[in-house]
Amino acid sequence: MTLSKKETLPKNNFFPTEQTLYSEIGKYIMQMFASPNQEKYIDTQIDEVVNDFCQEFLSAKDANSNINIDLLIKNFGDSQIPTQPTDFESYFKYLDNNVIAHSVHTSSPQFIGHMTSALPSFVRPIAKLMTAMNQNAVKIETAKALSFCEREALAMMHRKIYNLSDNFYTQHIQNNQSTLGILVSGGTIANITALWCARNKSLGAKNEFFGIEKEGLTAALNFYGYKGAVVIGSELMHFSFDKAADLMGISTQNLIRVTVDSKNRVNIRALRQTVADCRKQNLHIIAIVGIAGTTDSGSVDPLEYIAEIAQENNVHFHVDAAWGGPVIFSKTHQHKLAGIEKADSVTIDGHKQLYLPMGIGMVFFRDPYLASSIEKHASYTMRKGSFDLGKRALEGSRPGMALFLHAGLKLIGLKGYEFLIDEGIRKTQYMAARISAMPEFELLAEPDTNLLIYRYIPEQFRVIISKKQLTETDNQSINNFNEYLQKMQRQIGRTFISRTTKTTISLGKEIPVIAMRAVIANPLTTEEDIEAVLNDQIQIASEILISYLAKTNN
Ligand SMILES: *Cc1c(COP(=O)(O)O)cnc(C)c1O
Repeated sequence: MTLSKKETLPKNNFFPTEQTLYSEIGKYIMQMFASPNQEKYIDTQIDEVVNDFCQEFLSAKDANSNINIDLLIKNFGDSQIPTQPTDFESYFKYLDNNVIAHSVHTSSPQFIGHMTSALPSFVRPIAKLMTAMNQNAVKIETAKALSFCEREALAMMHRKIYNLSDNFYTQHIQNNQSTLGILVSGGTIANITALWCARNKSLGAKNEFFGIEKEGLTAALNFYGYKGAVVIGSELMHFSFDKAADLMGISTQNLIRVTVDSKNRVNIRALRQTVADCRKQNLHIIAIVGIAGTTDSGSVDPLEYIAEIAQENNVHFHVDAAWGGPVIFSKTHQHKLAGIEKADSVTIDGHKQLYLPMGIGMVFFRDPYLASSIEKHASYTMRKGSFDLGKRALEGSRPGMALFLHAGLKLIGLKGYEFLIDEGIRKTQYMAARISAMPEFELLAEPDTNLLIYRYIPEQFRVIISKKQLTETDNQSINNFNEYLQKMQRQIGRTFISRTTKTTISLGKEIPVIAMRAVIANPLTTEEDIEAVLNDQIQIASEILISYLAKTNN
């Protein structure tokens, strides 16, 4: 990449030296704060350069730069802040060569291994607007219209999940006593917030007890007569639940992970049994978690059945739909999420399948008063009865990310999101069919949504696999090969697929299977791209074999 418009970058005839006067630096810094109608406004000049960078970055076809991690470590080894201001020209050159050049092309159509993809182009000007306005969504005094805009966008999503009455939404959408949802920075904070609410509500104030919030976990368990507290979900629960269990003080040991079936869905019998066991042992169940789109394989738990178990036991039901939530936009596929409307709380990520930039997560509540269980006040702000969004939230100061959510819902709309979801699933089914038809690969599970796990099978194992005579040693060799293949593919950087480990039960033994993990979410990915990624893997695999044979022949 070249700094094509570098001559337009502000130089300001300023070359700071060790001896530069305080007043000269002052003048220079004040130029950075100049407003658009002032002569020395530098924003437009930098904008042109940044636009060039964006254009070049976004049109890159390869997935990755093949720079070595060791080199990056060396490049970023300076722990000193420069004494003098750096001039714009050299800094943007530096950015270009060191950061932009070695960033991952998440928008590349052949980068199909993670939940991060190309974004609609309107988010880039909105990002500019957001930073220009610099609202702080923590309170009304720093985010006026934006607070209501955020509530509206969250209500739209809430309605799509729970589909309650017109009356319900009229009553709660802009009611400062109600919280239909909380906008957070990601699925992790959304899951933590949901469990925090569930914990505080279920161990709340009663008689002479002031509630867990004021008295803590030990006092709460003592008062209610429990031996401990747990959260129950499938073994595929995202690691954010470990963070939540840790923070809530219940210990990660008490995050109980129930086994899954061959389709990676929680085993309902085992779940029912675990709930019964916990109750028998006098353990308080803070929540039962269902997953709508596991991070690993995209599978969706049987939410209807989990809802039933939660209801029977009067336990909070949380659905982690960080990834799969937007499937509700698809008429064809929304049935896969049936039961989500029975959840007490739901997590959805905006920065995954809503195609919004990093830093947008949401948690929704069926009961608009549930979040009052975490409400906090401060004397200078967050007053009772105010619209300050920060009083019922884990995060404090936060940016006006609601602008993106609102824009996405309005500019893309139900039909637009339906198209994006349907296309992703259609292309995933195409990829699954291609993998099944190619002798080089083995499909490891039929895809539920748009995640796909499969592996490469070296030639000597293909017949054995088709006869189902694979030994544990064979499996280990295939694992080693797939791990190496995925690493080589990432290092070469033309295309990208991620890697995960699945455990399968064979002859009563747990056998780890290393799998390739494809995520088909980028609207720019075509069938040809999918073909190209698979062929790239086949090519790299044959090169690995050739070099291996060359070595053993020597
Ligand atoms: C991505 C994801 C999370 C975590 O969300 P972040 O936005 O990365 O914090 C949680 N659960 C599931 C199922 C996810 O896919």
